[in-house]
Amino acid sequence: MQKKPWIIQFLQSIRFRLILLVIAISVVPGLAITMGLLSSYEDRSVALRGSEVLSQARILANQIAASDFMENKGDGNIQAQIDMLTSIYDGRVIIVDGNLKIYHDTYNLDNNKTIIAEEVIRSLGGEDMINYDSENSYIEMTIPIENPEDEDEGVIGVMLVSVSTDNIVLNQNSLQKVGTTLLVIVIAVTIFFGVLLVLYLMRPFRKLSDQIAAVQDGYGDDALQVNGSSETALICDRINEFLGRMKRMDESRQEFVSNVSHELKTPLTSMKVLADSINTMPEAPLELYQEFMQDITSEIERETKIVNDLLSLVKMDKSAADLNVAEVNVNDMIEQILKRLQPIADRQQVELVFESFRPVTAEIDEVKLTLAITNLVENGIKYNRTDGSGWVHVTLNADHQYMYIKVEDCGIGIPEDALDHIYERFYRVDKSHSREIGGTGLGLAITRSSVLMHRGAIKAHSVLGEGTTFDVRIPLNYIA
Ligand code: ADP
Repeated sequence: MQKKPWIIQFLQSIRFRLILLVIAISVVPGLAITMGLLSSYEDRSVALRGSEVLSQARILANQIAASDFMENKGDGNIQAQIDMLTSIYDGRVIIVDGNLKIYHDTYNLDNNKTIIAEEVIRSLGGEDMINYDSENSYIEMTIPIENPEDEDEGVIGVMLVSVSTDNIVLNQNSLQKVGTTLLVIVIAVTIFFGVLLVLYLMRPFRKLSDQIAAVQDGYGDDALQVNGSSETALICDRINEFLGRMKRMDESRQEFVSNVSHELKTPLTSMKVLADSINTMPEAPLELYQEFMQDITSEIERETKIVNDLLSLVKMDKSAADLNVAEVNVNDMIEQILKRLQPIADRQQVELVFESFRPVTAEIDEVKLTLAITNLVENGIKYNRTDGSGWVHVTLNADHQYMYIKVEDCGIGIPEDALDHIYERFYRVDKSHSREIGGTGLGLAITRSSVLMHRGAIKAHSVLGEGTTFDVRIPLNYIA
């Protein structure tokens, strides 16, 4: 695998993602709380200021209505109250008469001008209006001046009051500064401890990775051990199981290689001994030469058989995709097998019988399954009685799903404790006997692989001294 630059590795790591999560968890709520508090502070302060000014303005409007201020500005008391209102709230008061003409302006800017504004007209109808302009930071309100004595005359004017909210904005700004500072401190502290926590939590994974790398580099065969969390412990267990399996596979491969070497060496050693013997006897009679050469030939045949069996086994070990599946008449296939083995059976004086309960066709790899059944029948012949009363029965049956092939003999049988091992490569119950009759110890391993490639099953049943039965079950339709 190509090594990525460290920065990419870091960006793709769980560590980085957790750190991002910590930052998001601390920054987002912090920001939301600060913004929320600041905006609610502004709303509340403006509402409070508005109602405060409005109530004062109403009182003033009533006083104006009760006095003769609208006819004669000379009333110093009213004038003083208006000035107080404007100076306390840093505002401006405009008084408009019933003809929309500005009667009094504390800024003295618009005296005697006519004002046509929706709010003023509505207040002339008797309504109070209040408005907040957040952009220019002021509150504006219009209050009707109603004549309390003369109901017919009704509203005699409107008082327009606008007060600045600059000090609210100033307060808000300084609050914002404090809030931002606090927020930055909280975020920094959270990130600091969050990052520490993330690094602490991720430590077992790093340890695990280091230990796996050590095993990969071949340092120590010890089981991995990381006491971090139940998750890392679980990963450790799984890896240890996997390593155990790999170790067993490796051992079995080593054993296989050493077995192969040994098996291949034995005929070669025999040949060398035979050849050396002839070489040391230059005067030996021709018959002796011929006898030795015959022995050498049979050793060569044996070597060839082992190599052929090994090649078959290697083919079987490949993936099931290598199966050459076709619709095959199984009755014909078994008849062919028995026909080919008949001369060997005759030589051993073993009777071969085939019994079929029904015609069977199945989706199989004919070559591979032929090899499997041939090995079973051949074993039945090889490990049989030698007194001429031996037999091997092959039966074929099927249901809607499977076909069943049974190979039964009346031979020497297999001891119970050996039954579990007969499918192992090079395993032989009696090594010298098997070797004598030309066994390589690979036949049943080949058979089993072939059956498993067909998604089938094989079972052996044996009674020592009475005989052995192999039951093979293969699905009629190939399961990919
Ligand atoms: P081999 O080439 O030695 O026959 P196999 O893998 O075919 O190797 O069989 C493994 C061993 O199982 C044989 O060596 C033999 O001891 C035993 N075995 C297999 N089939 C039979 C059988 N039908 N009767 C008795 N023993 C058998």
